[in-house]
Amino acid sequence: MANNRFSDKMRERLTLSFEVFPPKTDAGMSKLPSVLDELGEYQPDYISCTYGAGGSNIGKNREVLALISERTEACTHFTCIGLTKDDVRAQLKHYLDDGVSHILALRGDYPFGWEGTGGDFHHASALVEFIRSEFGDRFEIAVAAAPGGHVECTSEDNDIAYLKLKQDLGADYIITQLCYDLEQFKVWRDKLDKAGITMPVDVGIMPVTSKSGVMTQCFSRNACAVPRDLALVLTHHWFDKDPDGNDIPEVKAAFREEGLAYSADLLNRYLTLGINGIHLYALNRAEDVRRVLEMSGFGERFMEQFI
Ligand code: FAD
Repeated sequence: MANNRFSDKMRERLTLSFEVFPPKTDAGMSKLPSVLDELGEYQPDYISCTYGAGGSNIGKNREVLALISERTEACTHFTCIGLTKDDVRAQLKHYLDDGVSHILALRGDYPFGWEGTGGDFHHASALVEFIRSEFGDRFEIAVAAAPGGHVECTSEDNDIAYLKLKQDLGADYIITQLCYDLEQFKVWRDKLDKAGITMPVDVGIMPVTSKSGVMTQCFSRNACAVPRDLALVLTHHWFDKDPDGNDIPEVKAAFREEGLAYSADLLNRYLTLGINGIHLYALNRAEDVRRVLEMSGFGERFMEQFI
């Protein structure tokens, strides 16, 4: 593991990171290097790559991590869905062989029709414990947390207790699930303090660019609250099809502009809360990230510190 721990950096200064996913098509894969080049211009602390629960896209995930490593530090997401201890040990060794020692340790969402992980680990905390016992300090370990409460949590206090368990078992820092409600975020963070959770917090922000995107991200798995300012963006551009059911491009474009401005403002409002890092879900769209960083002014401010 690198001597220079990312979580230590987070305690010293604000950090910036991005998240991409392994493209499904060859065309998407061939565009990715230029996307990563554009993201790399901001000198992010790391870029992470998602991992399909069950390891379905492990080959592409490693290919993408290799491309990221040519530009900046690579972090892999990793879920324990469907994996035995031997599987996890073998896959993590491959990452270390590839020079990737930064991991977001996740349980993963259950694939359609599943009611459990179908593997040796039932929660992310057990995965964190296993990584530490097998690999010592060789990995920097991030864990997920939902400031609005994970959709399956039995209570907010239990959710936070399980997050504390991840810290006690060796996790280094937190990356948050979407949270548009900053009042909720503040309440959650106070609860972390009271629970003795000292891991730095990397705030996950997804640029708002389409009605379907917001609705899918908020409602399909996350039960993420939509505050009035975001609801207004949706309402202003709700009617985006003509009576024949065809898309109205001007309405979609107007949504995107207002959504990007909303995202930039959200980013700046988060910064006033004294968080440790911004993690932009880039979704392989460098242009959206560039717009948010420009509109918020954060991209320039972030890069100024390296001059
Ligand atoms: P856990 O920490 O295991 O928590 C899941 C639920 O179980 C929670 O309700 C929690 O309260 C409860 N719980 C936790 N520990 C215990 C315990 N010991 N006993 C009883 N209950 C417990 N998914 C992917 O498939 N691939 C990705 O690449 C991916 N990337 C992500 C990136 C980020 C930044 C985030 C925030 C999420 C990502 N996810 C990804 C989604 C994630 O896998 C889901 O949110 C998943 O449902 C929960 O994962 P977790 O690691 O938080 O699980």
